[in-house]
Amino acid sequence: MRLLLMGPPGAGKGTQAEMLTEKLQVPHISTGDMFRKAIKEGTELGKKAKEFMDQGKLVPDEVTVGIVKERLVELDCKNGFLLDGFPRTVAQAEALDDILDELNMELDAAVNIEVPREKLLERLTGRRICRNCGATYHVIFNPPQVEGKCDACGGELYQRSDDTEETVANRLDVYAEQTAPLIEYYKEKGLLKNINGDQEIKEVLKEIGEKIGRDLA
Ligand code: AMP
Repeated sequence: MRLLLMGPPGAGKGTQAEMLTEKLQVPHISTGDMFRKAIKEGTELGKKAKEFMDQGKLVPDEVTVGIVKERLVELDCKNGFLLDGFPRTVAQAEALDDILDELNMELDAAVNIEVPREKLLERLTGRRICRNCGATYHVIFNPPQVEGKCDACGGELYQRSDDTEETVANRLDVYAEQTAPLIEYYKEKGLLKNINGDQEIKEVLKEIGEKIGRDLA
């Protein structure tokens, strides 16, 4: 399956992506993760991305489209993929259409997870991530058994530098201005699947399964 996972920051895309890629056996391609890895490794890409990410702004389209294109031609994408956090602008969506045309591929669905804005602020500022394995927690809604430690691997939990209150508000504004128009773009193509993200994690996954015609229970 070739899927897009869309929705505002904090909608639970990362959490759903982890489960979906395992169930569907397709690679998880997250542009945010790719940028964070590049920053950690101190590459040129990382340096370029960091200045935008720290302000909650989008990394320029030409940079982002380039890394996605390089990734989609890799062998493991032949039987499908899950794109998470890309596209985020109409220009990126058009570029993706061109890339997929070149590769003779078609999207199966654009899954759009919806969550009210006031809940997103609460979710994002309380989010904590394992430095070691990337598992995500929430200080109130999904706390680890031992404060500051990952249940799965014992790694240290940290707050993403762009999950602070000020940056989060900016990211939500950027989403409303630049990314929300994509919903119309995929609706017109008949690919849009709206999902209620304001329910239990398992229920969200179940609804995605129902709407993409796969049993994910
Ligand atoms: P995410 O992990 O998807 O929330 O992304 C974190 C940050 O990475 C965003 O706030 C942007 O600064 C940058 N980013 C991730 N994906 C994209 C994209 N498709 N286009 C532009 N910037 C992106």
